[in-house]
Amino acid sequence: MFRQERRLGFARIGFIEFEGEKIRTPTLIDFTEKPKLLKIMDFGKAPTVLKEIDESRFEILKSKDENFIIATGLSTLNARELVEYIYNLRKSSYKPLYAVAMATPKNIPLLYYMGVDLFDNILAIVKAYQGIYMTEFDELDADKVRDVVCNCPSCQNGDFSEKGLAKHNTFVMKRVLSMAIRDDLRNFVEAWVKFDPNLTAMLRFFDKLSNNCYPRFSKSKVVMTTEHSFNRPEVRYFLRRALDCYNPKGKALILLPCSARKPYLKSRTHSIVRSYIGNISKRGFEEIVISSPLVVPRVFELTYPAMNYDVAVSGDWSLDEIEFVSDWLCKFVEKGKFELIVGHVAGGYKKVVERVSDKLGLDVVWTVEKEVTDVDSLKRLKEVVEKSNFEGFDLYESIFEHMANYQFDTSFYVEKVKGRYPNLEFYAGKERIARIDTNYGCLDIDLPLAKTLIEEKKFCVEIDEFTPKGTIFAVGVKSADERIKPNDVVVFYNSKIFGVGRALMCGEEMLENDGKAVDVKKVGSW
Ligand SMILES: [Zn+2]
Repeated sequence: MFRQERRLGFARIGFIEFEGEKIRTPTLIDFTEKPKLLKIMDFGKAPTVLKEIDESRFEILKSKDENFIIATGLSTLNARELVEYIYNLRKSSYKPLYAVAMATPKNIPLLYYMGVDLFDNILAIVKAYQGIYMTEFDELDADKVRDVVCNCPSCQNGDFSEKGLAKHNTFVMKRVLSMAIRDDLRNFVEAWVKFDPNLTAMLRFFDKLSNNCYPRFSKSKVVMTTEHSFNRPEVRYFLRRALDCYNPKGKALILLPCSARKPYLKSRTHSIVRSYIGNISKRGFEEIVISSPLVVPRVFELTYPAMNYDVAVSGDWSLDEIEFVSDWLCKFVEKGKFELIVGHVAGGYKKVVERVSDKLGLDVVWTVEKEVTDVDSLKRLKEVVEKSNFEGFDLYESIFEHMANYQFDTSFYVEKVKGRYPNLEFYAGKERIARIDTNYGCLDIDLPLAKTLIEEKKFCVEIDEFTPKGTIFAVGVKSADERIKPNDVVVFYNSKIFGVGRALMCGEEMLENDGKAVDVKKVGSW
């Protein structure tokens, strides 16, 4: 009945099929048009919130719908209760979730982000009969609306009757919903909720609940402009996972500021520094790049979201940022038994390193006079580097090892690295085994590594006996690794063939949900 095609984090894109019709989701059920969907829905005889008051009675009276989760009476819940309620409903099943009489232009993007698939225009109609003209963020007295900048038929015809208003209010909601269907939904939601303290609080509550279905890699850029960015699922996952996997080989460390251009190594600042000190991993130096709110060891700079994010590089740091980033930097620094730590940083970045030095009781060699790219500062850095004598390592091999561990929880043998940074390709013997996928910020693997992952039972999807082309649907999946998240590079196999693809849903979802499970990229036979 419901077929999922894609995930945008917690939100889904798909369609509902019934009586020979296809309805794309997310969708807004328009009550002014005698919606057909309603005919097949069981709303139950009691609002969902009765559960809190009298659970046994609720069990008798609730919606017993087999195809939808229908949540009614949600508007009586406060922000925290609402978030927890929707979260638990979403977790309980992959069926389409309908929040009845809940949607407004203001809350649609957040509700969609939290996993609601179906909305309606009941409030839009109710408000119209109260003489309210809705805009994206406001509810105005229709009699006082003078400057109409809306291009819906009602506004264009000057029809502000109750019916006309209902159509206008619905039009605004539909427009907002269609705007929210975008790869960088999270950025959109962060911006949208800023207009409403209640919605802002809801996003904060929602971020605290763990969710397993959030992608680890993505094509969309992470824009970090609000305090919510610290708690973004991508940011939290990256910092924890990178810390777990960080295994520095060098005995010395240089701390550097971030750059607007990614990867950092291709930026002007990092290129200038490199032109003075060369490839310093050969001299046994690790590098950690300080950003806000990220801390990025050089070996993870091609990993999402370090590879693809935007933040104001103003050098102006709030106390919260200094505290947050220095806490994480402490953890990364402690993972290396560094004999020498060089702080090639200024301004806010220097404040972060000073906090780290205080907290851990470390001696830091400071090399910056005024600016990171001053000739004097660079000469001083060069002196420090040239005086040292540590055992070197290969940066590109280290990047590969770290990314393989981060992504697949394993290590692969690599013999040779080819290509031009950041488009690196990794070889074992004459065979290419993987390359950097700069779009998603991850490794893309070839068939030899797919075999290894199948042997190790990591990120595998076992499928029925068919040779897949294009897409593997969830109905054809026999088993799937629970670690798989949407956008993960996965391997699939049956007794005849095996291959590499990109997951379109979570591993556990593949066994219960209907819809597109894996996008097929490469197929080989045993
Ligand atoms: Zn209008």
